[in-house]
Amino acid sequence: MERVTVLEKFIGKIRELIPESRIFLDASLSEYTSFKTGGPAECLVRVKDADEIKNLVSLAKNEDIPFYILGNGTNMLISDDGFKGLVISLKEMDPNINIFALKDGDTYSVSASAGCTLARLSSEAASNSLQGLEFAAGIPGSVGGAVVMNAGAYGGEIKDVLEFADVLDTNGDILRLSNEELKFAYRSSIIQEKQYIVLAASFILKKGDEKAIKAEIKELNERRREKQPLEYASAGSTFKRPEGLFAGKLIEDAGLKGLSVGDAAVSEKHCGFVINKGKATSADIYELISEVIEKVYEKSGVVLEPEIKLLGFEE
Ligand SMILES: Cc1cc2nc3c(=O)[nH]c(=O)nc-3n(C[C@H](O)[C@H](O)[C@H](O)COP(=O)(O)OP(=O)(O)OC[C@H]3O[C@@H](n4cnc5c(N)ncnc54)[C@H](O)[C@@H]3O)c2cc1C
Repeated sequence: MERVTVLEKFIGKIRELIPESRIFLDASLSEYTSFKTGGPAECLVRVKDADEIKNLVSLAKNEDIPFYILGNGTNMLISDDGFKGLVISLKEMDPNINIFALKDGDTYSVSASAGCTLARLSSEAASNSLQGLEFAAGIPGSVGGAVVMNAGAYGGEIKDVLEFADVLDTNGDILRLSNEELKFAYRSSIIQEKQYIVLAASFILKKGDEKAIKAEIKELNERRREKQPLEYASAGSTFKRPEGLFAGKLIEDAGLKGLSVGDAAVSEKHCGFVINKGKATSADIYELISEVIEKVYEKSGVVLEPEIKLLGFEE
């Protein structure tokens, strides 16, 4: 069968599962990434809950259509050619935050859907005087993306507070994985290797003082605004921190502050951030990242590794 026909048949089946208002054809992925770049997805669906994810994944597999899971798109560089297949966006998933006290009365279990933003979850925790997620308040990703990446900042990491995650495995079964089973490491977890899809996660938080928790969040967010180029589109720190070193410092020492390709530039405020000054394409960003890696290697012998996930580029 012609690809167009296969796709039309597939989209017809999606329409049996998902309301038309949440199905988008030729959807520009630049609207779904914090870099504000990326070409079109042949089909994009904004899911509301875990059942919809499960059903769409099963359908895509049965019909042999490639699919990609997108959280808040804050750690992604997607090719200007876009994605041929189905993008499942969790951006509008119901947050589904549930809080209940554990037996000791001092600790609480707080769960949320994969699509809930970290900002929303930490704010909800703070309003319930629960501490532990202050570090995450300024990380712009979703709970799912944060578990996948073991997101962290200011001395905290998801692995410090996560109790378990519910994931969909490649056979279509739902597994509950404990913190230990998720094998967290610096900006990684077993989810990447096993291609699991996070549906929901649960965290253990301690009772604290609401005012102090909110003050801590405010202070960390101010530190971010001071140090990071939040006025520009970016995907946060572009590179992983090489052991014992800082990517930003290596880039600055190589004389690359402000280096640009088109509207993609190494931020002058924080060299670890590649920013989009306005009209950068993903190709510009990709070329700049490659140039930074090459020049830092020439200068220091350190091979920088992107922290951001690339979609649609040859490795
Ligand atoms: C201004 C700025 C500041 C940032 N600061 C920090 C920081 O301090 N610390 C930090 O760690 N990160 C930071 N980031 C990066 C980013 O916010 C985190 O990596 C975040 O965890 C990514 O979540 P996301 O939902 O946006 O994931 P996406 O960008 O949508 O996806 C990232 C990867 O995870 C996969 N994925 C997403 N959701 C799921 C899911 N439910 N199941 C399976 N796979 C999934 C995607 O397929 C992709 O491979 C920053 C980004 C920006 C733009």
